[in-house]
Amino acid sequence: MAFVSTRGAGRVSAPEAIVRGIAPDGGLYAPESLPQWSRKDFEALARLPYAQRAALILSQLLDGFTEEELLPMAQSAYGRFSDPAVAPVRALKDRRYVLELFHGPTMAFKDMALQMLPWLMTASARKQGEEREIAILTATSGDTGKAALEGFRDVPGTSVTVFYPLGGVSAVQEKQMVTSRGKNVHVTAVRGNFDDAQTGVKQLFADPGFIAQMNARGKTLSSANSINLGRLAPQVAYYLSACADLLAQGAFDWDAGFNVAVPTGNFGNILAAWYAHRCGAPIRRLVCASNCNNVLSDFIRTGVYDRCRPFHKTISPSMDILISSNLERFLLELADGDAAQVNAWMQQLKTEGAYEITPTMLLRLRASFFGGFADDEKTRAAIAKTWAEEKYLMDPHTAVAEAVAEDYRRETGDDRPMLIVSTASPYKFSADVAQAIQVPVSGDAFDAARELEAATGIPAPAQVAALRDLPVLHSRVCDRDKMGEAVLAGFDD
Ligand SMILES: *Cc1c(COP(=O)(O)O)cnc(C)c1O
Repeated sequence: MAFVSTRGAGRVSAPEAIVRGIAPDGGLYAPESLPQWSRKDFEALARLPYAQRAALILSQLLDGFTEEELLPMAQSAYGRFSDPAVAPVRALKDRRYVLELFHGPTMAFKDMALQMLPWLMTASARKQGEEREIAILTATSGDTGKAALEGFRDVPGTSVTVFYPLGGVSAVQEKQMVTSRGKNVHVTAVRGNFDDAQTGVKQLFADPGFIAQMNARGKTLSSANSINLGRLAPQVAYYLSACADLLAQGAFDWDAGFNVAVPTGNFGNILAAWYAHRCGAPIRRLVCASNCNNVLSDFIRTGVYDRCRPFHKTISPSMDILISSNLERFLLELADGDAAQVNAWMQQLKTEGAYEITPTMLLRLRASFFGGFADDEKTRAAIAKTWAEEKYLMDPHTAVAEAVAEDYRRETGDDRPMLIVSTASPYKFSADVAQAIQVPVSGDAFDAARELEAATGIPAPAQVAALRDLPVLHSRVCDRDKMGEAVLAGFDD
């Protein structure tokens, strides 16, 4: 299967798309076509362990990769997960199901893709004849950074440098990053906010002087952020996998289908659900759940994407985002493949901060998507209710999806089975979760985790307790205009 840029640049193979990350015209690589899955295919999938499921699915999504070649990669990637099912589906009441994506090493769903990406990236580089070391540069608002550090740690032929905003991530997230081990990992705090770090990284990618210095050291730049095809494809796999599990459990009627609710920031996770639907998974409605930064739910309601609005810090920080980059891939479908149209919208977004789709497109969008949002109070209430009534503990991001899924059912009366996508362990956000279920906490985030565990009896992942005593290995701090020097200094240490 070939991939085309959302903004019109020519077709490329999967390995080329993965190595490049972003197309030369600034667009994202989108699939030209998708494999078609039948009910029988899902039934067969349900009999395989997760790594085999992933290898099979990825071999169909990514041209140039065989199942035999992908299997050992998937076994290494998903062998590090604490749950043998890797992405288990748990049943709650009222035909609600939770797809748990947080059993990886960093306790957030980013591991599902970032454990696999280094393998895909190095294999792609080999296929492309790239002999230089691949130097990954990434800015993070919290979860992506640690997942990238874990994924690329000690992977031959790669290095990873993560920039995070000084004082802009949670205590657990910072501790996770600055204690990272590995000969090829670098972590630097930037004096500024996430946008400063992100802009700084983008500028390095476009800085000929910096690129030349990296080249002189035998390194070529790449990115691990969520627009890379190598992150999107492994995400499609867990939706097809969940569909197979639900079918095997007799959870839904094949003809009626089921719905999914996804806590959304950059639109990457929910876009994967959309592609799974396009592959034949009988997903009827995609519930796009935002926090107070509800730019997407407004878009789905009105057809206007308008990022000119105040930015809110919430208790679901990984969704505090106003530019949902991955939406661009879905726009290409709404525009029936008209890349010039997508390009025009993206230019408008850049210059005016907004764009509007046509009424016909809006109707089509709304036939598949439902948008809603939950503020912090509503999020806490969803955590409290699920805990009180079902003894199931949700993290704040997952709870946003739960709350909006409930709104969806009430407003539409559609009571098909609902797959709620859980993107983080509640223990990654212990203090907020404890507060929501009225467990008194004292001290720091690690004390909160202990108190939450004592009060609920739900075991905290081993990583949480271990983290507290790990030595700090990275303490570099730089100004936002000195990020290039920081990268180079990292290699000279
Ligand atoms: C990244 C993240 C999200 C948002 O996912 P997108 O793909 O950006 O929509 C939601 N929850 C958690 C915990 C995350 O880390």
